[in-house]
Amino acid sequence: MRFATCACCAPAGFMADVLSSPADAPGGGGRPALKSAGVVARDVLEEFASASRILADQGVFDAFGHISMRHPADPNRYLMSRSQAPALVTADDILEYDLDSEAVDPQGRSSFLERFIHGEVYKARPDVQSIVHSHSPSVVPFSLVPNQMRAMYHNAAFIAEGVPVFDIAEKFGATDMLVGNGEKGRELARVLGSKPVCLMRAHGSVATGPSLKHAVFRAVYTEVNAKLQIQATIISGGAPLAALSQEEGRIADTVNVANVGRPWDMWKRRVGN
Ligand code: MN
Repeated sequence: MRFATCACCAPAGFMADVLSSPADAPGGGGRPALKSAGVVARDVLEEFASASRILADQGVFDAFGHISMRHPADPNRYLMSRSQAPALVTADDILEYDLDSEAVDPQGRSSFLERFIHGEVYKARPDVQSIVHSHSPSVVPFSLVPNQMRAMYHNAAFIAEGVPVFDIAEKFGATDMLVGNGEKGRELARVLGSKPVCLMRAHGSVATGPSLKHAVFRAVYTEVNAKLQIQATIISGGAPLAALSQEEGRIADTVNVANVGRPWDMWKRRVGN
């Protein structure tokens, strides 16, 4: 089991491979070794791993993207796969992180470079239990234009709260666009505020939820909503879109929140256990 022992927790720093960094990089940092918050039940790890494969199957993830969930026994820890393509994630790939996004026991495995998105949002949002970061393609255009994303239909009612856009250049100037440290993660969390979803300029999006299934639901329907909004805009001839109001969104989302299990069961069957 992955969480039985402790290991070095040296900061990963900036690596040549921008897609991942060795979480077990040797070196100082002076931090004591992290102790695991406890063994996570196998069925929980398997359910969590299936979320990553679902998001790949649903076209939210391609070779990139990651999902996390808080550790069931400790809100100051979260679980996330080692760095790899999301469609390949299994329960054996799941690592434990503290909220500074240091791996507890990396066992020589690499971590996602943008894991700081997760740690910093968990610090800022006690209500959030799971986070999806993706580059889902229909969403990206809305990070580039003044048109705000709006809720096109009831399944995407959570969009009606508003979708802020994190522009990494506003605070950090010209960068590789990646949220590769805690400072950038904190700024993203600040822009996200209390919303369920935020976009990242010329990059992708972050979807949060009060459970694993909610976060997956929102990531999927953010992508679907983006497609619908592009279509509605094309046929609108410039007329305003009759999107859900904030109040309609609030009312409609209570139905979604109660029914996230239905799509989950269907999506999970497609990716196996
Ligand atoms: Mn990214």
